Amino acid sequence: MALQLYNTLTRRKEEFAPIDPSNVRMYVCGPTVYDLAHVGNARPLIVFDVLFRLLREIYGEKHVTYVRNITDVDDKINARAAERGISIRKLTEETNAIFQADAKALGCLEPSAQPRATEHIPAMIAMVEKLLASGHAYRADGHVLFDVASMPDYGRLSRRSLDEMLAGARVEVAPYKKNPMDFVLWKPSAPDEPGWESPWGRGRPGWHLECSAMSWKYLGEVFDIHGGGIDLVFPHHENEIAQSRCAFCRDVMANYWLHNGFLQVEGEKMSKSLGNFVTIHELLHSDTFGGRSWPGEVLRLAILRTHYRQPIDFTVKALEEAEQTLDRWYDEIGDVTAADEIAPNVRDALNDDLNTPAALGELHRLAHPAIAGKAMAGLTRFGQKPVPEVLKASANALGLLLQSGSDYRAERLSVANVDEAKVNRLISSRLQARAAKNWALSDRIRDELDAMGVALKDNKDGTTSWDVKR
Ligand code: AMP
Ligand code: ZN
Repeated sequence: MALQLYNTLTRRKEEFAPIDPSNVRMYVCGPTVYDLAHVGNARPLIVFDVLFRLLREIYGEKHVTYVRNITDVDDKINARAAERGISIRKLTEETNAIFQADAKALGCLEPSAQPRATEHIPAMIAMVEKLLASGHAYRADGHVLFDVASMPDYGRLSRRSLDEMLAGARVEVAPYKKNPMDFVLWKPSAPDEPGWESPWGRGRPGWHLECSAMSWKYLGEVFDIHGGGIDLVFPHHENEIAQSRCAFCRDVMANYWLHNGFLQVEGEKMSKSLGNFVTIHELLHSDTFGGRSWPGEVLRLAILRTHYRQPIDFTVKALEEAEQTLDRWYDEIGDVTAADEIAPNVRDALNDDLNTPAALGELHRLAHPAIAGKAMAGLTRFGQKPVPEVLKASANALGLLLQSGSDYRAERLSVANVDEAKVNRLISSRLQARAAKNWALSDRIRDELDAMGVALKDNKDGTTSWDVKR
């Protein structure tokens, strides 16, 4: 099956056809670096990383360009830096460093480029000049505004007419706007605010303009895929489209617009403003959520269990289940090297608009014959390949099982503070005690291990396996 993607622009699943298969181009709106990313923000990171991996698999690693910007000019940044009494640069550097570490812990590949808004001000100014020259923008009260009435199909992505937008708008409208929906391209900066010299005086860009300018610089006037969370459809993506299409006289900005659904807490979107958020950093490094810390891979699997367009409820139970699955799969793969191909059903599921729940179902099926295979030699192969190798390669396609089984286990033990050599010594003493039918000693050793946080499992073949207790 060829890759199909649901396009918000047409509200249909469409077969993906890149403009240039030797350079498939994707832009995803990145973080505004004033505060740490929360678990909801992890969703677009992970979802678009899966798509990046899939595109690399289909078109070749060198033939995909993935750009995720860093918004480091924003009024929220100015306010937060002032509140904390630190420079804007220190705040954005510090926040970005944690964001990069979070993304890595979630198993995300580095995008091909992560441009910063502050480094692309000349491109933004150039776009505003184009928009002014073509009559799509006007100057008012020190600002430059986009004139929405100048674009006949403004609202096409969100499918709203100007009249509907007006009816829905609750914000107080600046008196200098021709139309209440006109939005800022450039605004003046006070002396204590960050600003750049421009033909309209010292000022700074509007948020929407940043993405139009950076996608243009890195991907060209028209590119293949533009992504982000569903909340960005209006106004952010609508306005990016308006700016880019009008500046370059084009019918489209990007051919496929993809949007992930919300990660929710008790039915509500996780967000800073609702205060119902857990930061990725807290989840990974503290016991704020569920009384313990969680590996990034567990969050990744928990998120991929739901199709990217559906809402997800974020619960401790979902993390626990994801961790149990990873434990089992890592036991299955041990330290094998990934096969050079993935299971066709996993590939088909991903090609079907990134159907990760179906892909994970296939991984579960792959893990089963591998278990049985230890007893039944015929089942240890998948086609011409051993099953664990194919399981690993197929999971890798989703950015899962990237470590070796030994590293995964060692990490678990070190987090749980368990001395592996001591555990193995106690287990062999216990096996000797059992062989000598010294049940009292065997039970005492089991209790000792229990107190160390180790759970034993006596197997039918007389061996004992163990794991740290959760
Ligand atoms: P923001 O920092 O709010 O601009 O969000 C960064 C990215 O995370 C954007 O793509 C948002 O659409 C996305 N996002 C924010 N909150 C959530 C959420 N609760 N669930 C899924 N995606 C979200
Ligand atoms: Zn954007």
